Amino acid sequence: MSKADTIVALSTPPGRSGIGVIRLSGARSLEIASRLIGEDHFSPSANHATLKKIRDPKSGEILDQALITFFKAPHSFTGEDVVELSCHGSPVLLRHLVDLILTLDARSADPGEFTLRSLSNGRLNLSQAEAIRDLINAQTNASLRQAARQLGGELSARLQPLKDTLLDIIVPLESSLEFVEDDLPEIAAEAIKEKLTGLILEIETMASTFNSGRLLRDGLRVTLAGRPNVGKSSVFNKLSLVDRAIVTDVPGTTRDSLSELISLEGIPVLLTDTAGVRASVDRIETLGIERTRRAMADADLIVLVLDGSQPLTKEDQEVFDEVAGSPHIIALNKSDLGSFNPNGFERISEASPLIAVSAKTGAGLEALRAAILKPFASSGMPETGLLITDARHFDLLRRAGQALESSAALLKERASEELVLVGLYNALRFLGEITGETTPEDVLSQIFATFCIGK
Ligand code: GDP
Repeated sequence: MSKADTIVALSTPPGRSGIGVIRLSGARSLEIASRLIGEDHFSPSANHATLKKIRDPKSGEILDQALITFFKAPHSFTGEDVVELSCHGSPVLLRHLVDLILTLDARSADPGEFTLRSLSNGRLNLSQAEAIRDLINAQTNASLRQAARQLGGELSARLQPLKDTLLDIIVPLESSLEFVEDDLPEIAAEAIKEKLTGLILEIETMASTFNSGRLLRDGLRVTLAGRPNVGKSSVFNKLSLVDRAIVTDVPGTTRDSLSELISLEGIPVLLTDTAGVRASVDRIETLGIERTRRAMADADLIVLVLDGSQPLTKEDQEVFDEVAGSPHIIALNKSDLGSFNPNGFERISEASPLIAVSAKTGAGLEALRAAILKPFASSGMPETGLLITDARHFDLLRRAGQALESSAALLKERASEELVLVGLYNALRFLGEITGETTPEDVLSQIFATFCIGK
């Protein structure tokens, strides 16, 4: 990537919309805008929008009227000159304009390249750049809030004191190395050990929030399973609060898997209703059953639905045998019926949590929602604190923790300062990689490959 390149991309989703925004970043942005409006030296005030006619530079034909906003370097998102063309949201027009701009000495931006430039120009740090991606991809309000906190710099602010403490440990060790005749005095060694223990604890505490953080960002896959007619589709509808599944009393009508993204306490849950698992001669239904098996294999949790108003059948037992080896809970449905009798299910419920529900009246659904989250909720989690949501950050924190542990062990053994310092410097580097000060180039390109185009 040459710094002088001017890049262009459609920053709004492709498709018809009120407005579509084309974004340019780089030294030639304004010159390209000038050519698009047919003016020699278009010099708008920075941060102001100007309404202009967009023309084909060759024919002079008017293509659209657009609001042009100019952000002057270095006070722009990327730190370079940025021009945003807010055009009418016609996919044909927008495609044509981007193609035109590509002939005017700009090139297509790679995914996340605007944000990468912002990072290179020191406008934000790596964890903030990642937060922008997470904010765009957020599936629930709770994950949105976490991304916004990270974008606001909260993660880097939490890491800074850790890095400062680490330097407080490194400096006296380095100076005792320099003045070889002075062995590290006992008091100093004790102080260092204490600081190190505190640091390890803080890093571990931070890393431990990843259990919740990952759930919040990536969510869970929950699959409903059970023989036909036990009420899977009805439970699905009640849980997803929308009537998407077809509810009928003809066995086997849910032929295909149906998924809905729902939010359980802010955690995105992809809920899948499946075709009944049963031997079928119907080819289409057999395909559905294959998908069911796949959905069950992919699930973080299976909710086995049983009809509690009828005795356990051989088919129920067969489905149970299929799910028994995977994480599962049991929803004993139709608790509203007079014939409902949970006693007949003791054998099955011995090993599995069983919740009595009625998809008809809604009874027990709160308990079912709680039971779905229970296996994943780690106790004592700070519900409102900043959470580690990114596997990369978690991994680096863990490695920093391990490096510090090894230094602490060496210190205890009274090993040479030189050896103790290795782990400390490694830890500093790992912490630095979270915010990007010490992140290798190839890791950076991997991260930015997960961004969308135009961001
Ligand atoms: P699926 O084949 O397992 O998806 O089952 P459905 O959701 O299509 O339901 C089968 C039948 O059971 C339908 O007639 C539903 O109205 C009925 N049903 C589902 N849940 C309940 C419930 O909690 N109570 C009662 N009384 N009927 C239910």
